[in-house]
Amino acid sequence: MNLAQRALGISPSPTLSIDAKAKKMIAQGLDVINFGVGEPDFDTPQHIKDAAMEAIQKGMTKYTAVAGTDQLKQAIVAKFKQDNGLDYQPGQIVVSCGAKHSLYNAFQVLCQPGDEVILPAPYWVSYLEQIKLAGAQPVIVNTRQENDFKLTVAELEAAITPRTRLIILNSPSNPTGSVYTRQELAALGEVLVKHKIAIISDEIYEKLIYDGLEHVSIASLSPELKEQTVVINGVSKSYAMTGWRIGYAAAPAAVAKAMADLQSHSTSNPTSIAQAASVAALTGTQQPLQDMLREFNRRRDFMLERIRQIPGVQCRQPGGAFYLFPDVSSYFGKSYRGRVVSSASDLADLLLEEARVALVPGIAFGDDRFIRLSYATSMEKIAQGLERIAALLDGIK
Ligand SMILES: *Cc1c(COP(=O)(O)O)cnc(C)c1O
Repeated sequence: MNLAQRALGISPSPTLSIDAKAKKMIAQGLDVINFGVGEPDFDTPQHIKDAAMEAIQKGMTKYTAVAGTDQLKQAIVAKFKQDNGLDYQPGQIVVSCGAKHSLYNAFQVLCQPGDEVILPAPYWVSYLEQIKLAGAQPVIVNTRQENDFKLTVAELEAAITPRTRLIILNSPSNPTGSVYTRQELAALGEVLVKHKIAIISDEIYEKLIYDGLEHVSIASLSPELKEQTVVINGVSKSYAMTGWRIGYAAAPAAVAKAMADLQSHSTSNPTSIAQAASVAALTGTQQPLQDMLREFNRRRDFMLERIRQIPGVQCRQPGGAFYLFPDVSSYFGKSYRGRVVSSASDLADLLLEEARVALVPGIAFGDDRFIRLSYATSMEKIAQGLERIAALLDGIK
């Protein structure tokens, strides 16, 4: 059977495949330390699970409205008001099967062949494929480590052409952990308004932020920016609910309607039970989130300090999410027991095979001078894993 052109162009998610490879080795009894994980290692808080069980008992087991229950949309509207100072009507909210699905819907309704989409690199893996699946052309703009991997106004202006339709922003960022300031977003926003370029703002790591930094939604900076922006968020990362598959988008009414109409012909509503659980996540106690955040912060500080002691590894302090993104390029051109290391991918292979440490090479995010280490794993594993990395790197001559 022949595959469609659309399918032939898709690469599988490299982060998910590395995670799968590590999990397989662990299942075979091998002692692998997995820094490839893209989800919190904490369990979903009990009050959220209770809400799901109650929903089942009450018979909330039927189709809901395609774009989500009234109750969940109200909770999301209240969240935007309280956390971001954004006023949306329930009709501007679309709940989907994870933020990844919200992003997919947004690209599908906003892009078409001939459109260019500005994608700052390093970027989260799925953006690239989703832009291509929408028939649009990704325009990758490399940001610089010296600028904390944040797109500058000059870089943005240089990438704009008459075909530029959209830009994707992700703050706090996966993989870099960078957080844009209000001033930086305002400066980019001014250019985007001038050129009438739509914005997809992926704010899934909004709550996972450290050092007293402030999360700012670009949509909140002016009425014009709000009219040009689709904000994406969800419960996966903040509430340790990756398996529940609830994400959401807030958009101008016509865009939200198009996204809901598209969804009505694919998944219909996201799971009714997970929606009830998400109401509890958004409206219930935020203490479990605070506890998780404190633990992530402790791990980040420990991991950063240890990794900076390894000669030749350079690592910025990430302000958000749960990843470190160190530069390992000083090892390129050298070798480990006769094996030449010429990229982060080579190093990731070596680390997995020789040191039993799994992590994601930067090629997955568009820059193979870096590796991504997740600290969504225990302090003990972090300590052990870093010793293994240090020992292997010490053997590269
Ligand atoms: C995890 C992640 C998502 C997707 O989250 P789901 O709600 O689980 O689909 C979206 N964007 C980024 C940057 C992520 O890291």
